Amino acid sequence: MDLQYVPGIGPKRAALLASELKVTTDEELLNYFPYRYVDKSKVYRICDLQGEMPYVLLRGRFTMFEELGVGTRGHRYRGVFSDGTGMIECLWFQGIRFIKESVLAHEEYMLFGAPKLNDYTHGFQVSHPELEPASKNGIDAMQSLMGMYNTTEKMKKFFLNSRAIQRIILGYLQKHIEPFPETLPAYIVEHMHLMKYNQAIRQIHFPANPDNLQRAQYRLKFEELFYLQLYLIRSFKMRQQANRGFVFGRVGEVFNEFYFKHLPFELTNAQKRVIKEIRADMGSGRQMNRLLQGDVGSGKTMVALLTMLIAIDNGFQACLMAPTEILATQHYESLSAQLAEMNVRVALLTGSTRKKQRDEIHAGLLDGSVQILIGTHALIEPDVRFRNLGMVVIDEQHRFGVEQRSKLWVKNVQPPHVLVMTATPIPRTLAMTMYGDLDVSVIDELPPGRKPIQTIHRWDQQRDGLIAAMRKQLEQGRQIYVVYPLIEENEKLKYRDVEQGFENMQAAFGPEYRVVMVHGKMKPKDKDAAMQRFVSGEAHIMVATTVIEVGVNVPNASVMVIESAERFGLSQLHQLRGRVGRGADQSYCVLVTGYELSHDTRKRIQIMCDTTDGFEIAEADLQLRGPGDMEGTQQSGMAFDLHIASLAKDGQILQFARDLAKEIIDKDPLLEASENGILRRRLDVLFAHKVDWSQIS
Ligand code: ADP
Ligand code: MG
Repeated sequence: MDLQYVPGIGPKRAALLASELKVTTDEELLNYFPYRYVDKSKVYRICDLQGEMPYVLLRGRFTMFEELGVGTRGHRYRGVFSDGTGMIECLWFQGIRFIKESVLAHEEYMLFGAPKLNDYTHGFQVSHPELEPASKNGIDAMQSLMGMYNTTEKMKKFFLNSRAIQRIILGYLQKHIEPFPETLPAYIVEHMHLMKYNQAIRQIHFPANPDNLQRAQYRLKFEELFYLQLYLIRSFKMRQQANRGFVFGRVGEVFNEFYFKHLPFELTNAQKRVIKEIRADMGSGRQMNRLLQGDVGSGKTMVALLTMLIAIDNGFQACLMAPTEILATQHYESLSAQLAEMNVRVALLTGSTRKKQRDEIHAGLLDGSVQILIGTHALIEPDVRFRNLGMVVIDEQHRFGVEQRSKLWVKNVQPPHVLVMTATPIPRTLAMTMYGDLDVSVIDELPPGRKPIQTIHRWDQQRDGLIAAMRKQLEQGRQIYVVYPLIEENEKLKYRDVEQGFENMQAAFGPEYRVVMVHGKMKPKDKDAAMQRFVSGEAHIMVATTVIEVGVNVPNASVMVIESAERFGLSQLHQLRGRVGRGADQSYCVLVTGYELSHDTRKRIQIMCDTTDGFEIAEADLQLRGPGDMEGTQQSGMAFDLHIASLAKDGQILQFARDLAKEIIDKDPLLEASENGILRRRLDVLFAHKVDWSQIS
């Protein structure tokens, strides 16, 4: 049903709900769940408020009102609310006229709000509280748990606040007497001991008691995760059947010669295992789409090289695509060196490859003499054609959009095998969802002999000691990174900190030690030149923005100083830190912050100091930030909107849902059984608008 015909809505509110919440039908409205519940049986006393409070319920009266800053930007309306045990200040910045007319002094109110401690007055303050005359307390006096709905400022302006939404939903549910039809097959409801849909959808909005609320939440979370997994697993199966792959049946001379004569080190067990997994895939006759996860420095490049050698052994060409020119060049140099004594032709193609050389490479690709092509985005250009491309490796995938990857698929009559490598560790629950249709390999072991990086937190004020410690490292011949965040708010100031930092470093260490600077505003040529001076060891200190975040390998750099570390997210800090600790020396990461840190920031810094395990950090990041913000989820093409389940908190339910979905698809791949008809129809509805990314990679 169109929302405007739902009682209490009308065309104006319907338009608002559509534009602000993307809610356009009665069904979507029903699926707009409270984000939290207030226990109405628990009325706080103002004298008991302390520190940071969540949403609480108070009961009292306004003792005075005043209007402040009339006609200025600071225009606001202030009321003092008292319950006999204390006072709390209420503030309104919008809709002041309405509040002035409708909220009366000395009438008793129930007040909902999240009180904040005011640092100056030391009293509590709440802005835009929700008020309801105590005389008509609650929609249903017996109901103790009240749902709170997220709304926007704009909605509040039109009085469409949490209470209003609740009333609308209540009216709708009361009118809708017949039960809502079940959305899962009866055998699942029974097997998983789930609350029925009809009951769950009513209880989620108006829980009769905490137990019912919990069961309703469980049911709806399970259902959401289950359909998502069912969809992913079904796509995965369909793709397996649809896409035949080149069969790399043998491991031959090229691989063996390299492996037994030129391998510069013994592979770690994790590397060996992953190569086995990849070989099995490539020999199976179906196209490989594999995600290789491995923490920074875990040795993914060697896995890529060995994989490409297998392709060559089977008469195919391979390519390796990196997100930046610097990385591509580094890969080219190290792979060329490793293959120096072998008869394998490797070429590098980037945006700055000269025309003449480019033509040569194009010809070599077409006649098959170039066996491994390394490069940047330049590889996906349509004029780059291969004789027989069989293997594509993509490094640091979160920099590549799904669409770009898909262009590599068409470079042969049948899609080549694809190996996507990422150093952004993805927690299991997230990987299951984002890449539920990819095979995943994990390198969970670092090469031997690495000393764990020591991470230290320093305040801004401890700079003298820091400079002294840096000097010590420089005297031992080490190199140092100093990283600054970009100031995003102000284009003019954007690079001020880096530039200032560069001058400071020169003042502190020059001319004895050479300092270079790299940031995004510099010309690519200058950037590369500076980077090159650092890579070659000619420069000792590199002052940079996060452009160095991905992949660069300078084993002699053993110190990473991160300035204003409070401005970085956990996984970014971890990526940055991964630039050091690549050689045999003890490495250090110094996180420099100001004194005033929020609770979450303290936690982030603490986690960084406590562990170097990327997966542990990713897990913590997911808990702190939620999956929507996780790097990579946006570009993955698999970023789903979850209404109620949380990938951070509902890992266990996700596991149950996934296991069951797998079992069902294994038994009934096309969902043809009559008891599964409901599943097939639901999938069609739920994922009707979804592009089938599984067809791409
Ligand atoms: P990443 O996984 O971050 O891409 P790299 O492939 O760049 O890591 O490897 C990091 C460093 O470790 C490189 O210098 C590489 O030569 C080295 N390395 C990789 N595998 C091993 C191993 N099994 N034993 C010793 N060193 C290794
Ligand atoms: Mg790498």
